[in-house]
Amino acid sequence: MVIVKRKQLTLGERLYLPEIVRGLSITVRKMFAKRATRQYPEEPLVTTAVTRGQPRLAMNPDQTLRCVSCGMCEAACPAYAITIDAHEVEREIEREPEHFEIDMLRCILCGFCEEACPKEAIWMSDELELADYTRASLVYKLDRLVRPVSQLQGRIDYIEEINRRWNN
Ligand code: SF4
Ligand code: SF4
Repeated sequence: MVIVKRKQLTLGERLYLPEIVRGLSITVRKMFAKRATRQYPEEPLVTTAVTRGQPRLAMNPDQTLRCVSCGMCEAACPAYAITIDAHEVEREIEREPEHFEIDMLRCILCGFCEEACPKEAIWMSDELELADYTRASLVYKLDRLVRPVSQLQGRIDYIEEINRRWNN
């Protein structure tokens, strides 16, 4: 038979005092430490031109769409989130989207559509919030996708700056 000799515990150890003191000291330290959490939605996320939010279609100041329905973004989208139907128009661009849909539940905010577009017509906006009650309502159509160019200008300038750096 093996007799295991156990250490004689002090009164403090038997009352778990060292652990309680250590735990309380951590709690007090954390109470005064800089907060790592954000009280969302009261404190919304800070966005910048680098933010790659949901893709949006640019509308010129004369209320015309830049998109010519070439389908490059549709082909580049790895999530098959974009669906476009084109129709002919009298303007010099000859075609524009009749239907343009992005399934926001599929979109992974990768930015490939922005990179693929030859007409600078689709940009990653700073819009991040996405909530609704049905799946169908999260398939955004033209009425929810189009934004004035001025609203996307920060992103446009940022991407132009990046491209300039690559080309130099
Ligand atoms: S950001 Fe990516 S996933 Fe979303 S629509 Fe554009 S290409 Fe598709
Ligand atoms: S790549 Fe640009 S121009 Fe072509 S369909 Fe997409 S948004 Fe329109």
